[in-house]
Amino acid sequence: MIDYRSDTVTAPTPGMLQAMLQAPTGDDVFGEDPTVNLLEEKVAALFGMEAAIFCPSGTMTNQIAIKVHTQPGDEVICDRLSHIYQYEGGGIAFNAGCSVRLLEGDRGRITAEQVKNAINPDDVHKAVTTLVSVENTANRGGGSCYHFAEIQHIQAVCKDNNLKFHLDGARLMNALIAKSETTLQYGQAFDSISLCLSKGLGAPVGSVLAGSKAFIAKARRIRKIFGGGMRQAGIIAAAGIYALDNHLERLATDHSHARLLADALREKDFVGEILPVETNILIFEVKGRFTPKQLAAKLLDDDIRVMAISENQVRIVTHLDITPQMVEQTIDVIKKQ
Ligand SMILES: *Cc1c(COP(=O)(O)O)cnc(C)c1O
Repeated sequence: MIDYRSDTVTAPTPGMLQAMLQAPTGDDVFGEDPTVNLLEEKVAALFGMEAAIFCPSGTMTNQIAIKVHTQPGDEVICDRLSHIYQYEGGGIAFNAGCSVRLLEGDRGRITAEQVKNAINPDDVHKAVTTLVSVENTANRGGGSCYHFAEIQHIQAVCKDNNLKFHLDGARLMNALIAKSETTLQYGQAFDSISLCLSKGLGAPVGSVLAGSKAFIAKARRIRKIFGGGMRQAGIIAAAGIYALDNHLERLATDHSHARLLADALREKDFVGEILPVETNILIFEVKGRFTPKQLAAKLLDDDIRVMAISENQVRIVTHLDITPQMVEQTIDVIKKQ
């Protein structure tokens, strides 16, 4: 089976499993797991931030950040396609009691100008705007990347208006590899950053949230309330450390695989608009002979799994477990459709 449904489907590599087996552990709720502590210190240092906290999922790191940055009744600004809005079960309302101001971005990316115009005035009728959240890469934008200059412009608007600035960096490492940018640049721009270890980085589970010491101390309370306090979590944190040490540079391979697949699809009459392929996500329109579901079913006959994500779009995600041979095989299958 060649599985392009998501970069969450990767299995731990032998080296990663070895690291997990050898990890010293302790009770992390007591702060006594040395491997979790090491991962948290490593990610904080990576971003040049004061502290970090290891959580079971990226949904949890995002939701904790939103909860810590806001008060019930506040308003959060984000793109309409954002994971925090579309795919976290209404958690902004459920967990933080906040409303959301959705912006119509460009492939999931919003601008400083849009943010500025969406901030509510100081008026008793209005919700208090307190948080801006951006996503890089933007998942539903087809893995699109921000220009760092725009991030800085948004940061300036947040500063001028006393807003917190959160990054859903589930796939930030893909963006950094694609744009030759650094984690330190990003650490300086945001009040909090969520990074997924279980996406392109290939760990089986876990996300890390980074921020100031005071922010992470509050995040620790919220993590416990959300049921995310884990005990000997060093076993999975070790996979995260291994991923950060070994799986960053190779993300470029995933990006070139996605481009090769896009080139093959571009030749087909049943493929409409292909969103620009900037990283490891390829979103394309399906028209004419197939619906997205029919195309997915057709490819499954040849052991290729893709995901129909809307009435007219299919998503392909490349990752650690996709080899060059699998990409060649997939291109052959696309050609014969
Ligand atoms: C996957 C993802 C998350 C977190 O998802 P979990 O499955 O909860 O780890 C957050 N944001 C984006 C953009 C994602 O793609």
